[in-house]
Amino acid sequence: MAGLRVHSVLVTGANRGIGLGLVQHFLGMPNPPQWVFAACRAPTGQRAQELRHLASKHCNLVIIPLEVTDPASIKAAAAQVGEHLGGSGLTLLINNAGMVILNALDNETLEDMACVYTTNTIGPLLMGQEFLPLLKKADQGRPGPALSCSKAAIINMSSYTGSIEDLNLFDTAQIVSYRCSKAALNMLTKCQSLRYKEDGILCIALHPGWVQTDMGNMGDTGSQKPPLTVDESVQGMLKVLSSLSEKDTGTFLSWEGKVIPW
Ligand code: NDP
Repeated sequence: MAGLRVHSVLVTGANRGIGLGLVQHFLGMPNPPQWVFAACRAPTGQRAQELRHLASKHCNLVIIPLEVTDPASIKAAAAQVGEHLGGSGLTLLINNAGMVILNALDNETLEDMACVYTTNTIGPLLMGQEFLPLLKKADQGRPGPALSCSKAAIINMSSYTGSIEDLNLFDTAQIVSYRCSKAALNMLTKCQSLRYKEDGILCIALHPGWVQTDMGNMGDTGSQKPPLTVDESVQGMLKVLSSLSEKDTGTFLSWEGKVIPW
């Protein structure tokens, strides 16, 4: 992780699960970011208690209200982050917020497909568009041609279940809306990597592993449980982020740094 020098980071869905773990690990780094923006949709709610407690101890942690399916909320969040940053840019945007609905193919619905797609795919699209000026500014603030997570990057939290080539655990979890939304997120990541390369922004889709969170535990079948703690997943992912360079943009990687087939 020594190679990762992040001036500022924004994590969506930061009040629990992997998002909260990312925030905790950024704050605990030997060289913590100057700004850690923890975005969550209900900052004053019960589920953000731990985040509020953290913010009371770390003056570089700012809680930002954000509903990723609402363009006005995204706009307001970008304005608030821009104000805190003054003239400087945002180094890392981590599109982590996500949802799953446990439907099988036979009972999938229009409403559930649309809801999951809006959260898991359209949310990251709109976030990338709205935060682009701040990400560009971060790249301009660190001269040099190479792409890296210490310069400017978008990390889209994807899932192995979105892989079409290596279709994983279909018998135990069809989760059609979720799989489709993550396959589409992977395509979005590829498109972002091609478009944003000229702006100096690295983009990847990242699979966190099967992790012990509210979402991960929904896949617990009794005989199969999520093997990874949040800490193990986040430590692995931060190591991966610290190692990324130009050749990695537009790829789909696991928390261990392995390339996942699309
Ligand atoms: P959790 O269910 O534990 O947490 C989800 C987070 O996303 C919560 O903070 C939730 O906020 C937030 N969120 C959901 N919808 C919205 C929305 N519309 N606007 C803003 N925030 C929202 O999930 P995990 O921590 O396990 O997952 C994080 C990411 O990792 C997801 O993208 C998931 O798909 C991915 N992933 C997780 C795996 C696992 O095993 N856990 C495996 C593969 C991928 P709130 O508290 O308000 O609901």
